[in-house]
Amino acid sequence: MFETLSQRIRAAVDKLRGRGRISEADLKTTLREIRMSLLEADVNFEVAKAFVNAVQEKALGAQVLESLTPAEQILTIVYEELVQTLGGEAKQPTLKSEGNLWFMVGLQGSGKTTTSGKLAAFYKAKGRRPLLVAADTQRPAAREQLRILGEKVGVPVLEVADGERPEVTARRLREHLTFDYRDLVIVDTAGRLQIDEALMGELAKLKEVLRPTETFLVIDAMTGQEALGVSRTFDERVGISGLILTKLDGDARGGAALSARYVTQKPIVFAGVSEKIEGLEPFYPDRLASRILG
Ligand code: GDP
Repeated sequence: MFETLSQRIRAAVDKLRGRGRISEADLKTTLREIRMSLLEADVNFEVAKAFVNAVQEKALGAQVLESLTPAEQILTIVYEELVQTLGGEAKQPTLKSEGNLWFMVGLQGSGKTTTSGKLAAFYKAKGRRPLLVAADTQRPAAREQLRILGEKVGVPVLEVADGERPEVTARRLREHLTFDYRDLVIVDTAGRLQIDEALMGELAKLKEVLRPTETFLVIDAMTGQEALGVSRTFDERVGISGLILTKLDGDARGGAALSARYVTQKPIVFAGVSEKIEGLEPFYPDRLASRILG
């Protein structure tokens, strides 16, 4: 994974090795090549441009041109800027002792339902009492998928009915919680294959009624460029508090992670690393940056 991006960035920087001092033109050439490699890794152009500008500013500030080891210095700056673009410090979701309600949103196929099940298993293992809510009012198959996952991880699943109104869902949820105490409710919402205006409206309405404590956008790491538009729209229309990146075990090229984080400025809190229930890890910006640089 990320091999191409890492190889290309290294190749660009390696040209400076053993050269002693470099000129500003050399630096510009290297930065242009880094920008090209980001674009080829499906990083959105806006993100690639901002990234390279930041690297250039830091390189000049760090007097890379005066340095006898410019290649090493540039690599360090690129690494630090990658960590920064991916969020800097690792962040975990806010979790109070009770009353946690997490809203899972994202395109169909992004891994939303699987991730909901993974989160339930992850926090159950930490001693929490999760409840899963299958809130897709239009696709019974999506609800059934969550029901099966819930059975597998030993977490109850509350299912909405076809066409159920948000107020009714909220009431049923309250009723459920009066007889079955749960401290973490994970709501798996409906997804579509593409951004869908009607769905955005429905999600915003459901969110207004349920008042989640966190809203996570689930993004498939393989989507590359598209992640920018998807993240921007979900954030503007529904409002998100964090990102979860799935399928990082695939041959993703890094674009989605950088773009989604850049455009929303929301932390990436978890990463999906396999299809299995246990394939979920807290997200560490520095680890992904190291992997991108190989
Ligand atoms: P949803 O439509 O967003 O609810 O997506 P699903 O949860 O149904 O996931 C779509 C597909 O992606 C399924 O085949 C999942 O097994 C797969 N998937 C989800 N997360 C991961 C992951 O982190 N790694 C891999 N390899 N596959 C994943």
